Amino acid sequence: MKAIAVHPGTPNSVHLAELEKPSVTDVPGGRGVLVKTLKVGVDATDREINDALYGNAPTGYNFLVIGHECFGVVVEVGPEVKKVNVGDYVTCTVRRPGGSIFDKIGRSDITSEEEYYERGINLRHGYLTEFFVDDEEFIVRMPVGLKHLHVLAEPMSCAAKAVEQAMLAQKRLQVWEPKRAWVTGSGQIGLLSTLILRLRGMEVYTVARGTKPNLKAEIAEGLGATYISTSETSLKELASKHGKPDLIIEATGSSKIAFECMELLGHNGCMVWTSITGGKNTVNVPSDQVNLHWVLGNKLLVGSVNANFRHFESGISDLALGEVTYPGVIEKILTNPVDGLDNYAEMMRLLVEDRDALKVYVNVAEG
Ligand code: BGC
Ligand code: ZN
Repeated sequence: MKAIAVHPGTPNSVHLAELEKPSVTDVPGGRGVLVKTLKVGVDATDREINDALYGNAPTGYNFLVIGHECFGVVVEVGPEVKKVNVGDYVTCTVRRPGGSIFDKIGRSDITSEEEYYERGINLRHGYLTEFFVDDEEFIVRMPVGLKHLHVLAEPMSCAAKAVEQAMLAQKRLQVWEPKRAWVTGSGQIGLLSTLILRLRGMEVYTVARGTKPNLKAEIAEGLGATYISTSETSLKELASKHGKPDLIIEATGSSKIAFECMELLGHNGCMVWTSITGGKNTVNVPSDQVNLHWVLGNKLLVGSVNANFRHFESGISDLALGEVTYPGVIEKILTNPVDGLDNYAEMMRLLVEDRDALKVYVNVAEG
């Protein structure tokens, strides 16, 4: 079987590797689900892995198969599998359990262990290959009516978790009805977070660098949000013009902006950081002022990474609601298909060089 892989630790090592075809019996207890891969999305994490900033190969391999946003069709199931049938469209979660209490209760997304296992990212092969097998515990059904949104299920699960974390954490306030939200960043996590917050009825400002007209602005506005370009309006100006936000979902990939936002969150507000910033940048922060206002305003900062089965399910529900509320808008995120695993070089070129490529994904097979 062909697979797109890297040699972790060696920059720009993306290549075509050979893997043995998996079998349902690879998973014990008759719980294996064999999936034929149809489409796999790639994101900044894959770019960082290819830049050798991130990621490790599974034990016994000198390569790591990348790709953690999958969509496929079930082709065979073990005798104990109850949740899915042959022919179902599915996606699959990314993280696999370690040994902490959280891992044991199905919450590997909040593992307390430093080492984590993620398909396509760390110590486990990913989905950029022809078939994969996994325990039915990690397989998530995609409704046939959402087939056209395929690889968005995984990034949507991360957005769903980020918003859920804010809602859960804000229970500390006894009453919290966020009205105004900022989403900083208009990549896939930013736009999908915008969708979720709009579906919850919030006034959403999606903030990014590019000036209008551009596709990201068109999508944000198609979802009923206001798009703000920081080239025209600074975050400070946005806050003084429209008021400070109750909620900020930070998804720019820039730690500088993540800290800048801390100066502008409203009283009792919550900010969720979702960016994985692999670099070594440092910035000066007005720490006295931030500290003072965070204390006086009872503000909260939450980090959120990854997503578990439940977040996939709630994300998929919101994709469905989003489709009927804002018909045809979400699919505009899926900008750059690449045909076939053989085209791995073009896949990486788009990911690295094409600033307009909002979502790069590989059509692995028809189906
Ligand atoms: C993935 C998450 C993962 C995170 C950290 C993201 O790109 O979507 O599932 O937990 O990277 O490795
Ligand atoms: Zn990702």
